[in-house]
Amino acid sequence: MRYWNILLLLTLIGVMSACDKQSMSQVMVLQGKVMGTVWRVVLFGVDSVHKKALQQAIQRQLDADDHMLSTWKPDSLLSRFNSYQGYAMQPISADMADIVTKALRIGAKTKGAMDITIGRLVNLWGFGSVKQPVHMPTDAEITLVKTQTGLQHLRVIQTVAGQWLQKKNPGLYVDLSTMGEGYATDHLARLIERQGINNYLVSVGGALFSRGHNGKGKSWRIAIQKPTDNENTAQTYVNLQGYGISTSGSYRNYYELDGRRISHIIDPATGWPIKHKLVSATVIATTALEADGWDTGLMVLGSEKAKELALEQQLAVYLISKEKDKFVSWMSPQFLIFLTKGKNGNRDNF
Ligand code: FAD
Repeated sequence: MRYWNILLLLTLIGVMSACDKQSMSQVMVLQGKVMGTVWRVVLFGVDSVHKKALQQAIQRQLDADDHMLSTWKPDSLLSRFNSYQGYAMQPISADMADIVTKALRIGAKTKGAMDITIGRLVNLWGFGSVKQPVHMPTDAEITLVKTQTGLQHLRVIQTVAGQWLQKKNPGLYVDLSTMGEGYATDHLARLIERQGINNYLVSVGGALFSRGHNGKGKSWRIAIQKPTDNENTAQTYVNLQGYGISTSGSYRNYYELDGRRISHIIDPATGWPIKHKLVSATVIATTALEADGWDTGLMVLGSEKAKELALEQQLAVYLISKEKDKFVSWMSPQFLIFLTKGKNGNRDNF
């Protein structure tokens, strides 16, 4: 279980401290585990008698999402699609069709840097449900596995009669880890809103969505963490209302092999884990799903290409690169709108 995931990417800071005594009495915090990580909900103005029922409804929905999208569960809808090694159209849910369609679209816009078909490479490098390798994969192994990847081999078919997924390469293995948390976060937000609750903050792992105010009439203040593997301090803060945010980083989810740091983010072009100066990419978008898809693609591209794409696509992006011993941040004009001051009055903490 990667409990640090929620700490890894986005830390909810100042939520409780931002509330005065009166509103504190209305704060409800719910949390649990799903998808190898932690989910968390902070609400205002909800009677505590509803707490248990809400907790159960949330867990039920998130477990169902997990059973649809997991590559860790052999009986999930996605795992069944991955096990099937043929060309026939396979029935999927409307939600899965929507996620895959959006993933393919972001994949195309990143020129294949975000590629949900790289599941076999993720497994080869030990970041899927398969154990980490004890030796560095050989070029021959990587080349072979790469032949079973590629966005062009995956097709979503949507008609009034239903939705299907089709492989044009029978060995294709889809990994939705990069967007699953974002999807679950948006889904959770919809569940909360169906209860008539309009002031909330929800997160699954490193994906987060918030709406309304934090109990003091102010929009939610979210901290983006410094990209270090041993520190839990805020790098900068954003105000979020009605937006999703997600961070992808190479600084915590890695292991060392033969003296080399192996990141969980893989460049589909080379088949190797990324190794460049960009250490964290944060994206704000209208949904957590979109934010969760873009951040990984930008991480793969590296700072210069990520900046170009962020400007071209008018994305709200915050990048942190490691230049020699220093961290250097960059943000797109769209991100600047969300920036707010931290407790010390600074906007950026480097
Ligand atoms: P992100 O940057 O959002 O995504 C990185 C992940 O995406 C990588 O770990 C890899 O899987 C994949 N990836 C790498 N490179 C690329 C690329 N170029 N393009 C596209 N994708 C790429 N973890 C467990 O340990 N146990 C579980 O039981 C478990 N179940 C899960 C179930 C679901 C439905 C999901 C979505 C995830 C599950 N996880 C599980 C994984 C885990 O909790 C995180 O989702 C995962 O580690 C990545 O999330 P992230 O936010 O850290 O990274």
